[in-house]
Amino acid sequence: MMNDSDIALRLGAWWDANARDLPWRFGRATPWGVLVSEVMSQQTQMSRVVPYWQAWMERWPDARSLAAAPKAEVITAWGRLGYPRRALRLQECARAVAEQYADELPRAYDELVALPGIGDYTASAVLSFAFGQRIAVIDTNIRRVLSRVFLGVESHGGAASAAERALANRVLPERARRSVTWNQSVMELGAVLCTAKSPLCENCPIAEDCAFLKAGRPGLGEKRTRPRQRFQGTDRQVRGLVLAALRGLPADASLSRTEAEKLWKDSAQLSACIASLDDDGLIEIMQDGALRLPQG
Ligand code: SF4
Repeated sequence: MMNDSDIALRLGAWWDANARDLPWRFGRATPWGVLVSEVMSQQTQMSRVVPYWQAWMERWPDARSLAAAPKAEVITAWGRLGYPRRALRLQECARAVAEQYADELPRAYDELVALPGIGDYTASAVLSFAFGQRIAVIDTNIRRVLSRVFLGVESHGGAASAAERALANRVLPERARRSVTWNQSVMELGAVLCTAKSPLCENCPIAEDCAFLKAGRPGLGEKRTRPRQRFQGTDRQVRGLVLAALRGLPADASLSRTEAEKLWKDSAQLSACIASLDDDGLIEIMQDGALRLPQG
């Protein structure tokens, strides 16, 4: 039977040969660029993020430049990445980094999690991937893989439990460099092979020592950690339609209320979505009811 360090070696070799060539990997991005990639990837697949990240970093290569950008441009550049409040939180984060840290991301966990929009996962990912520090990174993919490999069961949904955190810390390689590769390779395995519904165990580099596979993959596919959300007809879809219409306008132009009413036939839902976009600071409602992206 392999021990933990054998598993780390096999995974590391698999990572070296198979890691997807994403532009923020392999030391090619600044710490700020790594943070942007993590924020963009939170609810969006990494492969979809690539063109947005590239255009974004070309336009705003550091926190200072993003901090100074007009809000409407930031929301427009976020494009179809979804959950656009993340764009405004990222700009708030950029302002804090530019003003409080002279445009250099802090290297301490407590300072990173204190930044707007930065939670445990993003702070840990930045410390590991950008600064090479030894810290357990815990996201859904990593939790699923570790739980399967070492405990032989599916991880539960919701927030990471104390036991899951303890496991992630226990199996993290001691040496900082190895711990970075470990975090990256476990996460990558979860993204491309050890997926929630149909893990490709026949191609897995650590199949021989996976407790879940040995146990006959108990409970696979029975329960998703989160029910898949229907998109059609949701407020998310309606909010997306309104923002897409505003992004398509020339700079400083607005969308009349009559034009906006044509975007969605359920006018009560449309009004509620417009109000929520306004509450979130993603749009402005003018005195005559016309809509525009925020100015300034
Ligand atoms: S053997 Fe299957 S379940 Fe186990 S880690 Fe590999 S892909 Fe995941």
